Amino acid sequence: MNLDKEAFKQAFIEKLQTMYGKSIEGASSLDRYTTLCSVVRDYMCKKWILTNQQYEARSEKQIYYFSIEFLLGRLLSSNLLNLNIRERCREALGELGINLGELENMEPDAGLGNGGLGRLAACFLDSMASRHLPGHGCGIRYKYGLFEQKIIDGHQVELPDNWLKDGYAWEIRKADRSVEVRFGGQVRTETIKGRLTYFHENYEPVLAVPYDIPIAGYQNDTVNTLCLWSAESINAGSDYSSFNRGDYLKTVEYKSAVESISHILYPDDRYPGGMVLRLKQEYFFVSAGLQRIIRHYKARHGTLSDFADKVAIHINDTHPALAIPEMLRILIDEEGMDWDEAWEITSNTMSYTNHTILPEALEKWPVDMFKALLPRIYLLVNEINERFCRKLWERYPGDWSKIASMAIISYGYVHMAHLAVAGSYSVNGVAKIHTEILKKQVMRHFHEFYPRKFNNKTNGVTHRRWLLNANPQLAGLITEAIGPSWIYHPTDLGQLQKYAGDSLFQEQFAGIKKKNKEDLGRFIREKLGVAVDPASIFDVQVKRIHAYKRQVLNVLHIMDLYNRLKVNPNLDIVPRTFIFAGKAAPGYIYAKQIIKLITTLAAVVNNDPGIGDKLKVVFLENYSVSLAEMIIPAADVSEQISAASREASGTGNMKFMLNGAVTIGTLDGANIEMRAEMGENNIIIFGLTADQVLAYYQNGGYKSQDEYLSNPRIRTVVDQLACGLSAGPEEFKDIYDSLLYYNDEYFVLKDFPAYAAAQSKVDSLFQRRREWLSMAISNTAQAGRFSSDRTISEYAIGIWKIKPVIIVDWDDIDLWNKK
Ligand SMILES: *Cc1c(COP(=O)(O)O)cnc(C)c1O
Repeated sequence: MNLDKEAFKQAFIEKLQTMYGKSIEGASSLDRYTTLCSVVRDYMCKKWILTNQQYEARSEKQIYYFSIEFLLGRLLSSNLLNLNIRERCREALGELGINLGELENMEPDAGLGNGGLGRLAACFLDSMASRHLPGHGCGIRYKYGLFEQKIIDGHQVELPDNWLKDGYAWEIRKADRSVEVRFGGQVRTETIKGRLTYFHENYEPVLAVPYDIPIAGYQNDTVNTLCLWSAESINAGSDYSSFNRGDYLKTVEYKSAVESISHILYPDDRYPGGMVLRLKQEYFFVSAGLQRIIRHYKARHGTLSDFADKVAIHINDTHPALAIPEMLRILIDEEGMDWDEAWEITSNTMSYTNHTILPEALEKWPVDMFKALLPRIYLLVNEINERFCRKLWERYPGDWSKIASMAIISYGYVHMAHLAVAGSYSVNGVAKIHTEILKKQVMRHFHEFYPRKFNNKTNGVTHRRWLLNANPQLAGLITEAIGPSWIYHPTDLGQLQKYAGDSLFQEQFAGIKKKNKEDLGRFIREKLGVAVDPASIFDVQVKRIHAYKRQVLNVLHIMDLYNRLKVNPNLDIVPRTFIFAGKAAPGYIYAKQIIKLITTLAAVVNNDPGIGDKLKVVFLENYSVSLAEMIIPAADVSEQISAASREASGTGNMKFMLNGAVTIGTLDGANIEMRAEMGENNIIIFGLTADQVLAYYQNGGYKSQDEYLSNPRIRTVVDQLACGLSAGPEEFKDIYDSLLYYNDEYFVLKDFPAYAAAQSKVDSLFQRRREWLSMAISNTAQAGRFSSDRTISEYAIGIWKIKPVIIVDWDDIDLWNKK
């Protein structure tokens, strides 16, 4: 398909006519946006079919990435970029009097995730397609994405994110590929021809309908698939008997109860609620995904015996871990395999990533709930557990406490991480330090038992979305300096290092940062009515609001800075704009108090004439992928200040590094590897180490009141939480109590002096302009290792054993296409 400018214009006009019966003049912006997406999708579809045909023909191994979240953000502009038709579209639309950027901004974010875990899954899809890997996603098509956050009177208010209300241009409903997923009921056994056979009866059937989204690789003709499942009731509306019985309302109620399975994304980041609907969601998409994959495979190959050589399934955190017993169920109950063969195939297919060591975030389900909802799956998990414990007993005879601590079912719960480790051939952490903590502490027994299963795959982010697309001017400057090879080989960004001290390059780099800051400044003024100075330091902390991420440490330091400026108005500091964004889980009172604390502080600081332009504090509402794409290119300073050992990796840190922001951070997660890449002079590190934090935890913490009593600066700001800044002692009570009475679990007061000193260092470095610019450029130059292309290659080689499959679209070779 030759998409030159004239052909594109023609296709656009015709599409507008056939879809809406309108001319360009009569069409609304939404009509135009939808039409453009439709034209682009048509263009992708040919490559999509071609990709699938070539995967089938070559019979190479494929990988399916199962994740309960995919935080995709917008797709129009990244699709145009990856398909290499963005400039042609921009020109063609321009000739039709339409502004491409305006249409791109109409797209709602696909916010089907909470934060890092969901965004990682989205970056991986981009990297798999861009690295020619046959890799697909499997997840849930939530009717409502993560809630929309409004700030009203300084408080977070949650509104539903009805992202599908105008339809979604990138999905294709594949009703003919629907499958049935079964809940509840009982299991009956019968011996048939000497074989114990299981019958699942009186279950509630739910129809799982797939919606496929094409995922285009970067200028390479590969188009992979993200399959998102939607729940529908079976025979909806055609059950006349119940209508006749006058059960109309019951029928409608039933239908909406069934469909609720795919209605909402749980908004709790790192906190499994123990809700039965969540367990339903987890089984729902895993069962549907596996049925589709296995059915398709069997139709093509006739047998499942070499399935594990041709298919890899990845479990992103424990939410999809029921893939293990579900695959056993299909192989044993539907395919008639015996246990040993089914187990061999299953455990050679599944691999698992652990994402957190926070104890409260480890998923477990009450046995009674699990059994009632998934009776057959429960029996299989029980069998896995018994066989696993028997092996443990052989290795550790008599060591009951060790075996109980590793069991999959124990103390009335099903432990999902234990199931995932026992049923997978690979278990990986997401940064070196995180993997070490898994091996040495959190999963040390498992590591001792299965030493070869454990491995590290440090996270990454797609440099195409987060630099090429989000910061086109910086991308342009880089290409001007070192050529475009970094787009394909991101470690080539290292060639920028020689420009770090080059004053001409430094000024060009600084000019782009300034322009990005002006753009963000304009946005802040429009949204909040606050004037911020683009010459001030833009100091940014944007991420989910959570105690372990320590937004409170940042806030207490701003309060301290404000106090010092009040005492000494001539204090010599570089003007600073502190920018926050992030959502709090709706039920997480502490996190909501942090938001109110930031907005309260902002009101005080921004309106204090004695402070003037020296200090500004802003909280931007509704943090999302598209907001991140605007904020991150404008940052001077990146706040990555989690309590050491608590942040498994972080990926926000990498996006800032790529865009030339200097990190102030702890030795936690990927910060440690970032420092190793760029050297300790280009990052500002402070605070307790992970070893120190873990040692405190083993000895019952530290005495936070000692810090409070011995440090007057700390005492002042903590007291201001209770009175002074707050409306009353209740307003920030959870924060206040956590610091003083719950012994400061995340070492905020303990790290405060080191953090304040590190912030002074930021101030003085920023004043040494050339030194600062050299640091900023070095950050971008050394960020290549943190591209998800590197991460995905490591998964492909080290875990999945999959090879690239080059897709060739002979009709669309550049030579012929380019005029
Ligand atoms: C990258 C990203 C995150 C993760 O940020 P961390 O700082 O690693 O927690 C969360 N939300 C969005 C929208 C992101 O783009």
